[in-house]
Amino acid sequence: MNVEPLAGVERRLTRALSRALIDFGMLENGDRVMVCVSGGKDSYTMLHLLRELARRAPVAFELVVVNVDQGHPGYPADRLRSYMRAEGYDFHMIEEDTYSIVTDKIPAGKTFCSLCSRLRRGILYRVARELRCTKIALGHHREDILQTLLLNLFFSGQLGAMPPKLVSAEGHVVIRPLAYCAEEDIAAYARAKEFPILPCDLCGSQDNLQRKQVGALLNDLEEKHPGIKSVMLAATQNVRPSQLLDKDLWRTLGLSAAKEVEGDGLVRIDRLVRDHAAS
Ligand code: SF4
Repeated sequence: MNVEPLAGVERRLTRALSRALIDFGMLENGDRVMVCVSGGKDSYTMLHLLRELARRAPVAFELVVVNVDQGHPGYPADRLRSYMRAEGYDFHMIEEDTYSIVTDKIPAGKTFCSLCSRLRRGILYRVARELRCTKIALGHHREDILQTLLLNLFFSGQLGAMPPKLVSAEGHVVIRPLAYCAEEDIAAYARAKEFPILPCDLCGSQDNLQRKQVGALLNDLEEKHPGIKSVMLAATQNVRPSQLLDKDLWRTLGLSAAKEVEGDGLVRIDRLVRDHAAS
């Protein structure tokens, strides 16, 4: 098996991360970014890339690293603490026993994830406030976004993925700097860097089955049609509202009809809005 040199993977990841940061204005001068680290490959990679970027980016920002110890039996908190200490990060381990709440509230045989992640999000928002952080960075990557797109399409009757940047109801700004990064690159990077990955099965909850299924579907398609994931991600950046049936969106955009454009049969939304305004 050919192993690509680390420099190539790192360059690709850095380029993808920088592009996402710029495209969505994720960072501003003076930002204090709370990097949420779960101990998995994605958040370690995000943290590492952001630190490298902070050293040479024209925008001045600082990083505060946060991990939530949710009280899962056997959670190897010390492994994470020692790594963060050795790397010199401004690191905060927040101990909150949500595990007991979740196992108490959720009936046997049901998955914990929805309540568990809601509780964790509440903790992260509170901690961001206490630590005076201006942004909260999460490690979701391209595959997470595509899986969510398909999950919404197949099971929720919605066309939408994950926002690269969002403002919570309480005013927290959440960013996803890895939005354009391929999971395969992240995995290769984390392996090469030997990040001390924490096990993710301590909670004993079943994995989200539907997410696993669409993940497998995407991987299968990628194997048969190399590059298809990149094409899908590109589709999320090239939306044709007039080709969809969302009447509220039509109204919002002032559309009265889609208009065929000779040559490609596709309708550009700017043309439609202009045409409508002129009529
Ligand atoms: S996998 Fe476990 S830790 Fe992760 S959200 Fe689900 S219940 Fe919580």
